[in-house]
Amino acid sequence: MNPYFAIYKPERGSYSGGFEQLLRQEKTIYKVSAERSDASVTCFEGIFPQWAYEYVRQGGIALVSGADSRTFDFDAGYLCKAGIEWIDLSFCDAGRARISSGISVFAGQGKGELTLHEFRTIKGKHRPGFYSVFLYKPYGKGLIIYSGVPLSEILTYEGSTLRNTSEALDFDERISSVDKQKVGRALKTVLMEAMHEAGYPYVSLWYFPDDARSVFAYSIDGDGLLSQGVDDLIEVSQKTDTKFLFYINKQLCEDDPDLKEKLRRISKTNLIASHAALHNAHDSYEDSIRDIEEHEEWMNSLGIPFEKSFASPRGMYCQNLGRALKDKDFRHTRDFGYAIDDYPYYPMNDGKQEVPLQIPCDGFNVCRWMLRNEELGLDKPSGEQILNAYKLLIDKKLEQDLPLLFFCHPQYFGLYAKEIYPQMVDYARSKGALITDYISFGDFWIERDGCEYDLSFENGKMQVELLNKDPRVRLCVDGKICDTETVHLSIDLQDE
Ligand SMILES: [Zn+2]
Repeated sequence: MNPYFAIYKPERGSYSGGFEQLLRQEKTIYKVSAERSDASVTCFEGIFPQWAYEYVRQGGIALVSGADSRTFDFDAGYLCKAGIEWIDLSFCDAGRARISSGISVFAGQGKGELTLHEFRTIKGKHRPGFYSVFLYKPYGKGLIIYSGVPLSEILTYEGSTLRNTSEALDFDERISSVDKQKVGRALKTVLMEAMHEAGYPYVSLWYFPDDARSVFAYSIDGDGLLSQGVDDLIEVSQKTDTKFLFYINKQLCEDDPDLKEKLRRISKTNLIASHAALHNAHDSYEDSIRDIEEHEEWMNSLGIPFEKSFASPRGMYCQNLGRALKDKDFRHTRDFGYAIDDYPYYPMNDGKQEVPLQIPCDGFNVCRWMLRNEELGLDKPSGEQILNAYKLLIDKKLEQDLPLLFFCHPQYFGLYAKEIYPQMVDYARSKGALITDYISFGDFWIERDGCEYDLSFENGKMQVELLNKDPRVRLCVDGKICDTETVHLSIDLQDE
């Protein structure tokens, strides 16, 4: 069998496309098929077809997400269905992940932990009601790794709620209701392990341009362009030689008598994109199209150059909006109500990919912090407090090789920008992050997505052939950058 992945897509029956979304984000090599392939590792969702038993018996490795009582023809330890909010993914440093899902519970020792009695105090040495997220079943020469949690499907869920944005901070915002990045990290860890089990390294593409450890970029939701904030943002963008991406909303900006002049000044050293015409969500495709067109006509009437990039007002992204953006040639969209703290990715919906690249950002923002303090009758947060929060988030993200992508509003972040933004940029740079902007990073990701390579093996060595590669994209072996200027790379295989 060969050192790549396959994803089982049944002719009929449910298929979320979550594995496809993840493996495309990773840029590993994978095939999608209803048939058995020569891939070493095959991913399944709930259904384990007859051919799969023979595949595993002969040495294939299977990863089954969303297994239930009917998935296997052997006793897999099925116990019950359960509705749970959290799973513990500390085994891959992902901490607790909110999943809010119906699951199947299986008995047995494995990896990750979930409990049927969330927030119950543990008394004595007894820990009733705790089960594993991933279970391991050796089968013939191969292995079946399975989970009763619909992990791959969760990667594709819509839905947002008010909750803490990070375990590192006591800070809440309306963000994606499930922790897709954490679930994806756990699946990636297990997929890597599965490939090693098959005797091969895990080959993918590095997430950032060149050898950068991460990227730093900041975007502004331009709901209103109050002068002081905007002036200070322009000043710090010049001082730091960085570009903010301003997503501009028509409804909340059009009555500003100085708007045209402000946008001109902004666009000299920054980027402008769309934050919709109406500052609210549309549910239908047709209304979304109309809104996008209205915004474009307005920008054109102002004579301001703008990028085909989008941020949904109030974080209220939906599939119909995404489809409308794609049909209107938008390249990326950034929606914290849909995805946070992740690498960019092409979202799947019920097995289909019909929307532009999603660029997740962090949910932390000064706006929410200030408004919350006001509600609670507290003083405004200090610049030092805000800077420390950003530094903490930067450190946490770097521990996991994540991008450093933030957002706020001009009238809030603008108040602090001169005091803290240059220090944020310096801090991120000193830690090895490439200082960039949302558009450059989004477009880099599109180039990376277009890269192709092939893996083959001969005499115990794996050959990597780069067929089409952007010069800034680096090859990764087992999560480590492994690229040189050469187009061929040989990797010694231990188990050949
Ligand atoms: Zn807004």
